[in-house]
Amino acid sequence: MLTTNDKRDKQLLLNTFAETIDNPNALTEKLEQSHRVMNGLKELIELCGDDPERDGLEETPYRVLKAFLEYTEGYREDPKEHLKKTFDVTHRELVLVKDIEFYSTCEHHFAPFFGVAHVGYIPNKKITGLSKIARMVEGYAKRFQVQERLTTQIAEAMEEILEPKGTMVVIEAKHMCMCGRGIKKEKSSTVTSSVRGAFADRHDSRAEFLSLIK
Ligand SMILES: [Zn+2]
Repeated sequence: MLTTNDKRDKQLLLNTFAETIDNPNALTEKLEQSHRVMNGLKELIELCGDDPERDGLEETPYRVLKAFLEYTEGYREDPKEHLKKTFDVTHRELVLVKDIEFYSTCEHHFAPFFGVAHVGYIPNKKITGLSKIARMVEGYAKRFQVQERLTTQIAEAMEEILEPKGTMVVIEAKHMCMCGRGIKKEKSSTVTSSVRGAFADRHDSRAEFLSLIK
């Protein structure tokens, strides 16, 4: 249906989906799908009680589509890959990357939740770059998520790729679906943790991690 904006929409899809670059059929399919999405968003605006054709809202379906493709970039990569650049070291003590900021999307309400992740591990033979851990967190955050799964996926990626003596992940986040609607608890934040290996077995390892993230 949409024609004047076809070029813009095609470019967005080409930039987003690598598989559409040399595949006109795949591109057409994505284009049709994105138009159904934008038409649906117009319906949503109308159902909520506003006019989708008025100035401020006319481009909104496109902007929402574009934003959602950004919020979900993590689906188009394997976040574990970031950890695969490893170095051999003799370091045997805790390595902690704290306050990794992330921004995610609650899968139940499509509302943002955001905060910080603290990722610690006790290396066995391999360590990875500190920025790689932040990129891996970003890859899992940029999907439709619940905080519990995000926490687990980060811990599992660390375990699988680095095979450390232990992994511990703590995430603190604010959920807009709890702040702006429903029970409206604006000050509440949610803390989740995942512990593996030495952190599960040893109280002093957990205590060290927790004292460092205070
Ligand atoms: Zn929610």
